[in-house]
Amino acid sequence: MPNILIQNGRVIDPSQGLDRVTSVLLRDGKVAAYDAEPNGQDTIIDAAGRIVAPGLIDMHVHLREPGREEDETIATGTAAALSGGFTSIACMPNTEPPIDSQGSVEFIKGQAARADRCNVFVVACVSKNRAGEELAEIGQLVEAGAVAFTDDGSPIANPELMRRAFEYCLMFDKPVLNHAEILELTEHGVMHEGLTAMLLGLSGMPPAAEDVMVSRDIALAEATGGRYHVMHVSTGSAVDAVRRAKARGVRVTAEVAPHHFTLTDESLRSFDSNFKMNPPLRAKGHVKGVTDGLIDGTIDVIATDHAPHAKEKKMQELDRAPFGIVGLETALGLVVTKLINPGHLDWPTALAKLTCNPARILHLPKGTLQIGADADVTIINPAARWTVDPAEFRSKSTNTPFAGWELTGRAEVVIVGGRIKFDRR
Ligand SMILES: [Zn+2]
Ligand SMILES: [Zn+2]
Repeated sequence: MPNILIQNGRVIDPSQGLDRVTSVLLRDGKVAAYDAEPNGQDTIIDAAGRIVAPGLIDMHVHLREPGREEDETIATGTAAALSGGFTSIACMPNTEPPIDSQGSVEFIKGQAARADRCNVFVVACVSKNRAGEELAEIGQLVEAGAVAFTDDGSPIANPELMRRAFEYCLMFDKPVLNHAEILELTEHGVMHEGLTAMLLGLSGMPPAAEDVMVSRDIALAEATGGRYHVMHVSTGSAVDAVRRAKARGVRVTAEVAPHHFTLTDESLRSFDSNFKMNPPLRAKGHVKGVTDGLIDGTIDVIATDHAPHAKEKKMQELDRAPFGIVGLETALGLVVTKLINPGHLDWPTALAKLTCNPARILHLPKGTLQIGADADVTIINPAARWTVDPAEFRSKSTNTPFAGWELTGRAEVVIVGGRIKFDRR
């Protein structure tokens, strides 16, 4: 394996409170030294003006394989991850068949190894066949390598199943990730319930559908001592519930997706299905609520909920089109443009939500540039100005609401396990 010296970059590693201009030596796939001098390394990267960060982690990605390869495959999804600056992703189990057995976990790992792009960690089903009735074989799935559990795509509707999921996962110190939605409150819903939905004549999904389930899950986590992670928080009220739960010591963490801090329900005036996601784009006050949660640390993680859908599916009329957008290739630019440059977050705080925080929640040996750690590195050009062009996506799908957006900040070189896997220079 070639040795790589990254020189002159601003190295920001929130896991060790590091933020200074220095050089990093990568040797034998590991972080080997700081302040190293050029000394016959195979590759020298001049990172002047660049940010050198631990490889980014996206803990919420839908790779669609097996079963919906027309939307995405493990090969194309991991290519999209690299181009977005991600060296590790966690994939969701709502595939066909769902990831609810040792064999299915092994299949994903095998395909990821064959693709040989970024690291793929598997989040397995809470319930057998993701049917919401019977607990999956949690112990066996942990043994196969599952890092967390969820039925995402659907909520864990049954509170007794959720309670037992907390209890079982606690034995293996694994978090339960829930898509918080009371389905009875969102039936036939297309977008956020509010003034805009009323004006457009579209059926609404009330914030209470999310808030009620987040509150329920917090109560169950508190009662069991279980580890609860709230997926794609979209309401200010849910952020508030998480904030209060954390204050009294409940083991709860939370993530927000870039579209929820950048867009509002007003976008639906276009009737473009690329603005249709679940949870839906909310009204302004909620966008402020999740942004405040990012600022005060209530929200631990930024995760994309990358949800590719083939063009013919998204081109259906609004109430028939599936929910979700791709996110891997626009996330970093949106974080820089909408959170860092306006002064909401500084670089170390933003990077923590993309590196050591998701690593801590999923117990991944990633998200750090400590000596001896895996040499997963993302070199970012913080000043790169670029226009989102879906035709350039590595993802198999192009369902993005950000086409044509001018963004600042982009991954330039992405290194996984000491090997350069992506180079935009
Ligand atoms: Zn979800
Ligand atoms: Zn999802």
